[in-house]
Amino acid sequence: MKRLALIAVLFFTLHNPAFTQLLAQVNAGIPAAPLPEQDTALSALEDLKGDSRYWITVFAEDKYDRTALLEAGLDIVEIDKKTVTGFITGPEMNLLAGHGFITQSRQTIYEYAKKHFKDFPAVDAAYHNYKETVEKLQALTAANVDVASLFSIGKSLEGREVWCLRINPVEKGETPSTRPAAFFMGNHHAREHLTNEVALGLAEHLLERKNDPEIRKYLDTLDIYIAPMTNPDGAEYDIQTGKYRWHRKNTRVNANKSIGVDLNRNYDSRWCQAGASHSPSADTYCGPYAFSEPETENIKKFVEARRNIKTLMSYHSYSDLLLYPWAGKDVPLDNRRDLKVFETMAREMVAFTGYTPQQSSDLYVATGDTTDWAYDTAGIFAFTTELEGGTFYPGAAAINKAVTNNVKAAVYLLSVTEDPYKLAR
Ligand SMILES: [Zn+2]
Repeated sequence: MKRLALIAVLFFTLHNPAFTQLLAQVNAGIPAAPLPEQDTALSALEDLKGDSRYWITVFAEDKYDRTALLEAGLDIVEIDKKTVTGFITGPEMNLLAGHGFITQSRQTIYEYAKKHFKDFPAVDAAYHNYKETVEKLQALTAANVDVASLFSIGKSLEGREVWCLRINPVEKGETPSTRPAAFFMGNHHAREHLTNEVALGLAEHLLERKNDPEIRKYLDTLDIYIAPMTNPDGAEYDIQTGKYRWHRKNTRVNANKSIGVDLNRNYDSRWCQAGASHSPSADTYCGPYAFSEPETENIKKFVEARRNIKTLMSYHSYSDLLLYPWAGKDVPLDNRRDLKVFETMAREMVAFTGYTPQQSSDLYVATGDTTDWAYDTAGIFAFTTELEGGTFYPGAAAINKAVTNNVKAAVYLLSVTEDPYKLAR
């Protein structure tokens, strides 16, 4: 949300009688009635065809103009220096000139929504869609060219680049490295938008503190990769109408016209033997064969080309869990030394997040996930974090805490990436 728009919301909120009343109740210690539901009229595009409202920009010089416009029926959403913009009904709009107001531009709410609501619902504007994610990664890289570089690990099914930010002051882009590497990923599942925020927050945290000795030692010794949005098609599809679709998979159009393959069941680790479905309509559809999807194929090639990767974190949401292999076998790891490393890492990380550490299959057995495959094929200490929030859409307010705590856990993971086996000695 723009800052001016925030000011507008604040301005409007403070002048909203219901809010004032609520505030008085809170101050008086009276239990407050729940705030009214968000107006969902804007959220379903097709519902807007019959809506008589317009989205208009009107010249307004000061707070007196703006007050008068509110009284004339304009629902002010954004305030700029010389104009305000918002929603108004057709009949009210037609009276504005008579009140002395000059309208700069106007369009029906349907025209407006078609252009602008292929995005997060307005209440969740703090989340980054694909374009914003790319811009953020580019900005972080541009501001830190001494230590950061950005490259694509491949295209999604619909042709979006899957970007990976690399933090390594010596080797840039796709140049190989012998430094021990850590690989962080988000958004395998479309609707788990908070995971993208945590991965972006981690990148920002490390780059903002690149000269702090605590962080610098990892930058000077490790090779760090962060791919926040590994399923960009799905993430965009989920928010495309301005109303969440609760979409999990990618956007593969299956033979039966259903949409999507579950990317976290599409890896080649006992592929589709348990906890996954061969039915294309299922949310856990494993795909026609392992690595059938470009999004998982991208990660396969990326990991196979980088044998220096020692640790991996794949962010999912939500359940407050930290999971480690096996996911696809209902037995503990045979390798007791590896198990000790996994258990120790998990215990240390949940000290920061408060999540519950456990072997993945203690939750349910599911084959074909990222972490089983990464451990099985490359011996990587690979984890799945199921973030907090209690819902797929916990709102903007959930971002800060999730980022703060999970960044601490991620920095711990960096601290043991150079030599994970020291935890078993
Ligand atoms: Zn998930």
